[in-house]
Amino acid sequence: SDVPRIALNSGYDIPQLGYGVFKVPPAETEKVVTEALELGYRHIDTAAIYGNEEGVGRAIAASGIPRHELFVTTNVWNDRQTDVAAALEESLTKLGLEFVDLYLIHWPAPANDQFVNAWKQLIALGDTASLRSIGVSNFLVEHLERLESETGTLPAVNQIELHPAYQQRDIVDWCTAKGVHIEAWGPLGQGKYDLFGTPAVHDAAAAHRKTPAQAVLRWHIQKGNIVFPKSVNRDRLKENLELFDFTLSDAEMAAIDALDPGDGSGRVSAHPSEVN
Ligand code: NAD
Repeated sequence: SDVPRIALNSGYDIPQLGYGVFKVPPAETEKVVTEALELGYRHIDTAAIYGNEEGVGRAIAASGIPRHELFVTTNVWNDRQTDVAAALEESLTKLGLEFVDLYLIHWPAPANDQFVNAWKQLIALGDTASLRSIGVSNFLVEHLERLESETGTLPAVNQIELHPAYQQRDIVDWCTAKGVHIEAWGPLGQGKYDLFGTPAVHDAAAAHRKTPAQAVLRWHIQKGNIVFPKSVNRDRLKENLELFDFTLSDAEMAAIDALDPGDGSGRVSAHPSEVN
């Protein structure tokens, strides 16, 4: 496939583009993941809390695709941060897999103050028979600094809300300097604001005869972000894969860069301090 792979600090690499299944109903998951695999997706992002790991697993098993060609991520939910090994085993059973490629702490849940404890458990599980790479999600710089100072081990990725109106540059800069790759969740802003009608996006898309969604996803790819846009529509799943036959110019990139008002007001989902 033409999807680039990004080398992680674990020594493994990850396809830069995948398919995320947040809010894909469990009863539909096997069908849409099967379609995604048929279309060429080889990286799937799920989470215990999504309730659809079984559907992901059934689609993988039915696909016949060799395990080494797939990259599967799941996330440990906040109430299992004291019990990570057992939570991983439960996810593996649901997925029908012997290992996941990447296991993430879904939220820091700072009010519980268990995320460093959870990180120590991930370190112990990392690169064993059950797991390859370890990472985090929704970690602010203050949380990342605690992982670094208290364990000396940095995550392979930090998966954060990131789209043109909300670029979280403080976190991105910290992670980039430390070799922690950014996974952008909600890469299309979850459809919660008029991103596609913005002139910077609309014009870039028109100039390359692409859709606005493709222009935004291409912006992420050129930023170096790992992305896994969600859709249950086959045409959109196909469209979202077709990002590697055009390049945004520096001016087009800069115009999309300028869409973040810089005051955090572009956030469309929960703040990490609120989720426990
Ligand atoms: P997203 O930005 O991918 O938006 C999805 C929405 O965009 C859907 O409603 C879909 O209808 C629309 N869309 C998708 N492709 C389109 C296209 N080509 N044209 C027009 N509209 C299109 O938001 P998301 O699903 O929240 O994020 C992607 C993935 O990130 C999730 O599925 C999940 O795997 C992950 N995620 C992680 C966290 C976390 O806390 N770690 C939180 C949210 C999402």
